[in-house]
Amino acid sequence: MSKPYIYLDYAASAPERISSRNARAAYDAASYAGANPNSLHTPGRLARQALESARKTIAQSLQAHIHPQELYFTSGATESNNIAVMGLAQAARRIHPQRTRVIISAIEHESVLMLQRPLEDAGFTVCLLTPSATGVIEPSRLEAVMDEDVCVVSIMYANNETGVIMPIDKLAHIAHNYGAYMHTDAVQAYGHIPLELSHVDAVSIAAHKIGGPVGIGALMLRKHITIAPLIHGGGQEAGLRSGTQAVSLASAFAAAAEECTGSVCKTLPLLTKRAQTLHEGLVASRMFVPTTTISYEHEHTPLRLPNIVSVAHKTLDAQMIVLMLDNQGFGISSGSACTTGTTSSHTSSHVLVAQGFSKDEAARGIRISFDERVSHEDLDACMRTLIAL
Ligand code: PLP
Repeated sequence: MSKPYIYLDYAASAPERISSRNARAAYDAASYAGANPNSLHTPGRLARQALESARKTIAQSLQAHIHPQELYFTSGATESNNIAVMGLAQAARRIHPQRTRVIISAIEHESVLMLQRPLEDAGFTVCLLTPSATGVIEPSRLEAVMDEDVCVVSIMYANNETGVIMPIDKLAHIAHNYGAYMHTDAVQAYGHIPLELSHVDAVSIAAHKIGGPVGIGALMLRKHITIAPLIHGGGQEAGLRSGTQAVSLASAFAAAAEECTGSVCKTLPLLTKRAQTLHEGLVASRMFVPTTTISYEHEHTPLRLPNIVSVAHKTLDAQMIVLMLDNQGFGISSGSACTTGTTSSHTSSHVLVAQGFSKDEAARGIRISFDERVSHEDLDACMRTLIAL
């Protein structure tokens, strides 16, 4: 009997949880499933109730006194990031015309990095903050570039390649001291660690990173902020994101959110241990080097995501490793974002380059990502396969 394939690319997209599938099936079986939640008739109103119940559950899962009306459904984190960064920049400039500078970090996901051009076309200038060698965006670096001309600071909660967690609360305080809005792409951190979002104005999340369905995400936007939509139409989602809402997906998203955020206290220590064992084993083999010296262990606040292991091979290109591992029944990912699934001979991770690795070193970074559903034995088998390459 051939051995089952072991998928270890949860940070790209996690397999859908049973709770999510069950919630979707339950909604789809309801007599009003498929009704438009914006319609006045009874099935429409019942669909609206289900949508609002999902909104409330997800708002609560963010644990930051977020009112459900501050949560807007989107198609995923790319859309949430686009709406937030473009929208907040324009909203700030409308009130204070001198605010024309946007600060983002050099290690953001492409859905933020690729906004540089459209922002510049719209008359903004973009300042890229580089991380320390450990991959952290240090508050002192933000402080050094802040001034009263900044409209929005957008820095991810945790990096999708290294799993390094940023000091978001401190960064948000600095942004606010200068009157700028603070947005964070919390896609990778949400559901894996407790979040501190009290001083953040806007947050992007996506269902498929926590075992919810693909195709739905959300943007949290504080109610005192009004931003212009990117998509125009029937005015759904309080006019911010027109288009009929996917109630079935929202219900499934809520179920996954409830499961993940409700069990963080249990999964955090368990996953920290698994990540640490895998990381230490790979580095001890002398075939791999760490991509950051930040430890998985923590006393109070985690500094590194417990579900991502990031290392760089000493000689082999990451894309080659991904294909070799795939051949041996393991699905891992190259650190560098192979965003459209294409391979080119030598792609360097922009995150590792920003941390100071050479282009060659940065092309050797790999990422193994999982959640509590992946066993220690499967991670161990992957480790042994990687070491034997
Ligand atoms: N932001 C981060 C940090 C990510 O890791 C990803 C996906 O990998 C995204 C945004 C984009 O998410 P989505 O595929 O839901 O648009």
